[in-house]
Amino acid sequence: MEVIDRCNLTIIKEAGFEDMADFLAEQGVTVTASLPCYMEQNVERQRGKNVYWESISALKKLNALGYGSDQDKQLNLVFNPDGPNLPPAQAGLEEDYRRELKADHGIIFNQLFIITNMPISRFGGMLLAKGLYQEYMTILRDSFREENLDTVMCRNLLSIDYLGYTYDCDFNQMLKMPLLAKGKPKTHLSEILETDLTDNPIVIGEHCFGCTAGQGSSCGGALKN
Ligand code: SF4
Repeated sequence: MEVIDRCNLTIIKEAGFEDMADFLAEQGVTVTASLPCYMEQNVERQRGKNVYWESISALKKLNALGYGSDQDKQLNLVFNPDGPNLPPAQAGLEEDYRRELKADHGIIFNQLFIITNMPISRFGGMLLAKGLYQEYMTILRDSFREENLDTVMCRNLLSIDYLGYTYDCDFNQMLKMPLLAKGKPKTHLSEILETDLTDNPIVIGEHCFGCTAGQGSSCGGALKN
């Protein structure tokens, strides 16, 4: 079973979390970390001041622990667009990230994943505030590709919150829509091995169009290239 830490990178440099990177490395946890661009100005515009340099520092720490080079320490980066549009093709952008991060900072990583912005949380709030929500939903609906349904991540991955409760994916986790196993309103990680999830219905909503649009989107990147 692969365990993935969906990491925002800056947490690794925060007081009180100094031992987190070592813990993840000792446990062989895959780190999938948000880095919306390899350029400082783009990261700071999207994520806020100092986020770029804190992220670079965290990536160097992870590299020093073997992330990006050791087989059991996978380090993947996540790109998402800076606005209400679908992301570009994954392969070409990965080459740019690899070249620029290596040249500027000596940083290495395994894969770049592109993720479509979900119309929820902070991005959803921004769309609503700017009156762009319906326009963005139309883009997602019009770009629906049925073949993406075969590989959406909720079919083979569970998301776990910090209290140990389970969700069909991390977007449902953000929306507080728990996995409904056997009709139970919540299922804890400690119960999951004895719970038969075969044919268990996945909790879905309008946000799911974010996973099925265009080349598709998941915590493992594009679904189709
Ligand atoms: S948002 Fe919907 S389609 Fe995407 S992984 Fe979650 S449940 Fe599946």
